[in-house]
Amino acid sequence: MNKLFEDASYVIEQIESKGFKAYFVGGCVRDYCLNRPIKDIDIASSAKPEEIQSIFPKTIPVGIEHGTVIVRYNQVSYEVTTFRKEDKYEDFRRPSKVWFVTKLEEDLSRRDFTFNAMAMDKNFQLIDPFNGRDDLKKLQIRTVGKPDHRFSEDPLRIMRAFRFMSVYGMNIEEETKFALKKNAPLLKRISTERITVEFKKLLEGEQTGKALQLMRNCGVFPFMPYPIEEICEGSLLSFDWSSLKSEEQRWAAVIVLTKVDDERDFLKLWKLPNKVIQSVLNILSSYKKTKWTKMDLYTTGLTEALSGLRLKCLLEDESFEEQASKLKQLANEIVIKSRDEIPLNGEDILKIKQKAPGVWVGQLFQELEKEIVEGKLPLSEREISDWVRRWGKE
Ligand code: ATP
Ligand code: MG
Repeated sequence: MNKLFEDASYVIEQIESKGFKAYFVGGCVRDYCLNRPIKDIDIASSAKPEEIQSIFPKTIPVGIEHGTVIVRYNQVSYEVTTFRKEDKYEDFRRPSKVWFVTKLEEDLSRRDFTFNAMAMDKNFQLIDPFNGRDDLKKLQIRTVGKPDHRFSEDPLRIMRAFRFMSVYGMNIEEETKFALKKNAPLLKRISTERITVEFKKLLEGEQTGKALQLMRNCGVFPFMPYPIEEICEGSLLSFDWSSLKSEEQRWAAVIVLTKVDDERDFLKLWKLPNKVIQSVLNILSSYKKTKWTKMDLYTTGLTEALSGLRLKCLLEDESFEEQASKLKQLANEIVIKSRDEIPLNGEDILKIKQKAPGVWVGQLFQELEKEIVEGKLPLSEREISDWVRRWGKE
């Protein structure tokens, strides 16, 4: 048995020994049925949060008001949540009220899709009131209950449907698809952060192109954090998403294929971290470049230059290897990787020039760096000192 499940079974047994019910629920049951690696284990229980806290020596109260306590066992965290039902999602962020219930089935009925609404006892007996197992076999995404109601209650589920479609290579059942189209405009009310989490997972899936194409066909694109108006026809589907290696490269591909005009604005509206934004912009500028100087390559960095090149080759059906080895060769010819490798610092320069500090030092450094990168000045302390002495005099 998988070690995670083995330890989690112990957690379940402990809860049961105090007279409560407890089951595996959610993603871990789905992934177990699909024979996929298990990331984390969620447990649903009839025990209230304070009861869970009294059973286990190590717990973390992460969301008591929603019934969730983390149980730490063998250095692993298990989220244990009391069986609950939810009220309307008034602010489209979280239910305005939750209340605890006694039956597992009631808890399962609040969940989004049939395959996420299955539970398993510690002996791996499946409890599957909405036929999620069948849907998994058919690779079909279907909401629990009326799709129109479930999407309008929490429109994030629209993004989750596309995410599961991409990650598990599934299709969306017709009535579910119809309701999802109808409710797409409600996505405007969902926080960007929640949309971005789902979209990032979608971009890493095995069927990214198909999921994006369906998002477009279902009219979801205009309601994204940066409304997407236009795309390169056919390209979402034919593009080989699986050969992209990083999150940044995937965002760059989305930008190119959806004809985004303001790249920085796009990335900011999706609320990506600044480090990711900068890296995507570097990849995009490499993607557009046709000729590289040493200085270009030095400022962009080889990794992002190669990343942009790969994107270009994929989109324009060119061969990557030959162009990549030329870039690597050029990178090898650059004698420094960063300014820190220059054997003179600001103080040395002030000494040589016998001048008061000022903006001139920065200018000098910039020119010096360029001379070294372009191979016009060797990386020798003596020659650099001479160059500094001459600087500003010619
Ligand atoms: P992952 O593998 O990415 O963790 P997951 O299905 O476990 O996927 P979570 O966000 O961890 O996703 O949610 C755990 C469970 O909670 C889901 O399997 C589902 O049963 C339920 N759930 C999550 N989000 C929603 C939602 N928006 N509406 C209804 N049920 C939800
Ligand atoms: Mg999960």
